[in-house]
Amino acid sequence: MKNRKLWTRPLSPDFKAHPPWFAVHGVSGYNRPMALTMPMAFSVLRTDRDSQARLGRLITPHGEIATPAFAPVGTQATVKALDPRDLRELGVELILANTYHLYLRPGAEVIAEMGGLHRFMGWEGPILTDSGGFQVFSLAANRTVTDEGVAFRSHLDGSLHVFTPEKVMRIQELLGADLIMCLDECAEPHDRAYNEQALARTHAWAEACRNAHRRPDQALFGIVQGGIFPDLRQQSAEFLVGLDFPGYAIGGLSVGETKEEMQAMLGITVPLLPANKPRYLMGVGAPEDILESVARGIDLFDCVLPTRLARNAALLTRQGRINIRNARFERDPAPVEEGCRCYCCRHFSRAYLRHLFKAEELLAYRLATIHNVHFMIALMQDIREAIAQDRFLSFKEQFLARYPIIPHEVRAANREKRGARRATPSGMSRAGRS
Ligand SMILES: [Zn+2]
Repeated sequence: MKNRKLWTRPLSPDFKAHPPWFAVHGVSGYNRPMALTMPMAFSVLRTDRDSQARLGRLITPHGEIATPAFAPVGTQATVKALDPRDLRELGVELILANTYHLYLRPGAEVIAEMGGLHRFMGWEGPILTDSGGFQVFSLAANRTVTDEGVAFRSHLDGSLHVFTPEKVMRIQELLGADLIMCLDECAEPHDRAYNEQALARTHAWAEACRNAHRRPDQALFGIVQGGIFPDLRQQSAEFLVGLDFPGYAIGGLSVGETKEEMQAMLGITVPLLPANKPRYLMGVGAPEDILESVARGIDLFDCVLPTRLARNAALLTRQGRINIRNARFERDPAPVEEGCRCYCCRHFSRAYLRHLFKAEELLAYRLATIHNVHFMIALMQDIREAIAQDRFLSFKEQFLARYPIIPHEVRAANREKRGARRATPSGMSRAGRS
């Protein structure tokens, strides 16, 4: 594995206290025996003086993740338009893959037979898989929920499937990600009665997942739900902490509630989670949400936002999003963002990128995705540096002062439009609109 140094982080002074597993075992990631692996370890290196923001290190069997961290989404075992070498060069330390999609195609057994997800997709860094629950619940008309699990029809061929907590654990163990999730039910955030029902199931399923979980090299996270209801969020956090998971995810946010409602729920939930365990806010990736959530003590994020925007010609800059198809870029020799160190900005002009999008050239998607993922990774690096230097709040204020936030109504309308265009599960699709 002579390439491993490309993605592992430099060894830190307390390397001896928390050696990554390859240093302990001295063997490559390919086909290593399970007995040689060690479970996830997490340490908080520093907490910001003026907020709950914290700097941490998450060690997985496939490498270290400096937190707060952002994970690009690789729905179908690929981060659309990028290859693993791109991801390493971009400094990506964690990616997310979707259990629902991989279970349906190519199938978890196929992936296991091919050596597991890391080997199958050629990415030897850390991977997180969701439980598939979020996609299944977004199938709306095509699923039936009972206390045992969810029956659903595949969006690919209409075939009937059932996800139970045990099944979802088995699938995720076959895939072999480093961080795996319990089956949960993500309810419409404002529907009290539905949230009460869904929470009872989410809790029973968390217990069942915990009992069914076998692989010691995979860390299973519990998922806090409860919509926008403070008492339900509290109940959920307390119940799951009682089950003593190695990490906690917060689900059911960024699904239609306002930013204020989301932050209020974090304000209630995060203080109830153990300080020494990682906290993962699922599906959140707008820069302004990341900054506010880091301030409340969140360590991990994932979102399709940077990659999906890129494929729609929307590029992230510190002054907000620009649409590179715009006529004003026709003769613009400047890079997408002045000062950006990404491959796209170092080599190409806005005029060229605009031309590629207009001509529907494949390189357009790749260059735009490189820039947007770089933007997120650089933002997380700046956040970590600010926390390390006790100036996180002033960094956050400075960033937000320049970064225009898209109003709730516009976001809601976009969400609606996407939903109408899509006959496939939320967040991903056959057409590559993830
Ligand atoms: Zn760039």
